[in-house]
Amino acid sequence: MPSNVPADVMAARLRGFGSTIFAEMTRLAERTGALNLGQGFPSEDGPWFMLEAAREAIASGVNQYPPCPGLPELRAAIAGQRAEDRGTPYDPDSEIVVTAGATEALAAALLALCEPGDEVVLFEPYYDSYAAGVAMAGGVRVPVLLRPDGDRFAFDPAELRAAISPRTRLLLFNSPHNPTGKVFTAEELRLVAELCVEHDLLVVADEVYEYLTYDGLRHLSLAALPGMRERTLVVSSAGKSFNVTGWKVGWACGPERLVTAVRTAKQFLTFAVGTPFQAAVAAGLLGRRQWLDGLRSSLARRRDLLAGRLAAAGVRAYACEGTYFLQVDSRSLGYPDGELLCGDLATRAGVVAIPSTAFYDRKHAGRSLVRLAFCKQDDVLAQAADRIGAFAADILATTKG
Ligand code: PMP
Ligand code: GLN
Repeated sequence: MPSNVPADVMAARLRGFGSTIFAEMTRLAERTGALNLGQGFPSEDGPWFMLEAAREAIASGVNQYPPCPGLPELRAAIAGQRAEDRGTPYDPDSEIVVTAGATEALAAALLALCEPGDEVVLFEPYYDSYAAGVAMAGGVRVPVLLRPDGDRFAFDPAELRAAISPRTRLLLFNSPHNPTGKVFTAEELRLVAELCVEHDLLVVADEVYEYLTYDGLRHLSLAALPGMRERTLVVSSAGKSFNVTGWKVGWACGPERLVTAVRTAKQFLTFAVGTPFQAAVAAGLLGRRQWLDGLRSSLARRRDLLAGRLAAAGVRAYACEGTYFLQVDSRSLGYPDGELLCGDLATRAGVVAIPSTAFYDRKHAGRSLVRLAFCKQDDVLAQAADRIGAFAADILATTKG
């Protein structure tokens, strides 16, 4: 990601971040008219009752600052959801804070919990804001590789153990995982939790895709494991669960000492945002049972549509257990380099994807991976898959010939 700000203007800790890969690739899609399977935002709106609740809130004057920790009815709804669906009750007054999307919760947590020089262990590939959040906090990233293992991604427990040092402050964890589509198994979570307890680490658990799991898999919160509640800050957001990525209503839940720290940072970042949207998300959470099964099954169907057509065209994709991302092996299209493939896909096939190197410190580890988002309409997915298939056939015919 090239930085377009002169080095003498921008603080050293932000140099090298440039603009996000998602903004860049969406711009490319708009400029070229390509189908956008890059940035992960759904092409459909959220539940009607939640949209209606937002309209009603605006019309009835719910338009001034909410309390800094969030509207009480939203915090109560989050507390209910965590207790019922994850088995972890939180006190809505002292253990929950509403934020400007999960992004603010993550940044505020890192700012509030890390001293400069503290090490933050995280699995790579990782969501791009993690690197910037750690950098803004003056922390040091220590990545542990999720490597292809058959058609899934897995980590080496010895590598995780070796990454933890006396300087490790926290583990920044994400499941269901962007961009691999991995849902950590109960066994993997147990192993991670045991190491965190053994080394007395704090944990920030990013669960924004908590409801987007498929094939009967259910999300388990790391905070629910023995010894974990008191050290874990769980981060989630309405964006992915309710198809409202633009509302930017997120939250963090955890023991009072962690939530107080996050709230202290957060009050000077945004103080608070989106009062009517907070009211609507409270309604969304209360009515989630009439929405989430449909969302999950429509996404699973779309995953199968895209993955099935790609497989028929000889394009190799990894298993997607959760999230709305499919990782494709660029080598199956004759490209050892996923960045080159993404450039050619946009200009020659009319499809925008994300080169997965954007999610790695050790770029070589993700060199041949490309991420496709399948939270798009069926006809867009079908057309994109056909274009990628035709492109692959062309490339492979040229290389053979
Ligand atoms: N974490 C992960 C893993 C994500 O993929 C995203 C992007 N959707 C976020 C956090 C940010 O979420 P929000 O849009 O609620 O800030
Ligand atoms: N989380 C979204 C993705 O991974 C993008 C969010 C953003 O554009 N910052 O595609």
